[in-house]
Amino acid sequence: MIDSLIRDVPDFPKPGIIFKDITPLLKDAAGLRQSIEGMAQMVDPESYDLICGIESRGFIFGTALAVHVGKGFIPIRKPGKLPWKTASESYELEYGTDTIEIHLDAADGKRILMVDDLLATGGTMAASLKLVRRVGGDPIACCFAIELGFLEGNKKLDVPCHTLKKY
Ligand code: AMP
Repeated sequence: MIDSLIRDVPDFPKPGIIFKDITPLLKDAAGLRQSIEGMAQMVDPESYDLICGIESRGFIFGTALAVHVGKGFIPIRKPGKLPWKTASESYELEYGTDTIEIHLDAADGKRILMVDDLLATGGTMAASLKLVRRVGGDPIACCFAIELGFLEGNKKLDVPCHTLKKY
């Protein structure tokens, strides 16, 4: 079902990329509920204290999942968005670099489940794992709605990875 609610948009945001558009899934009440319930079953909620979502589509799945399993939520954001003291981490993109930030007191000693919408090359999640560890958190697993398996992003991640739909 989730499969039929993910729309392929060719050449977005640039030529050669097939963008996996999750807006039809978010719009569908049953599809949205099924994806959050599916994520909740992937990792035992007893094994983590907080959920960390990565801006911006990681916020959608991450906060919904946090409410569903009764946990708090911490955001990883693009630079300059978080108001208090931050740690930041830069990582390589195909062209150039990107940076993400987290509040210094976000994760202190807690076990964290990492959430994003999609795993592609793994660069974003690998940097997010580093960032959470730098502020004293213990990432125990990652969970995604979609994985582009042919890019082998999971090889960059040193915690278990779980995905609802792998391409
Ligand atoms: P990566 O760091 O290469 O694993 O890319 C992951 C991030 O980029 C995620 O936050 C995704 O939202 C986004 N992303 C990368 N490739 C795609 C794609 N083909 N369709 C939709 N989002 C993508």
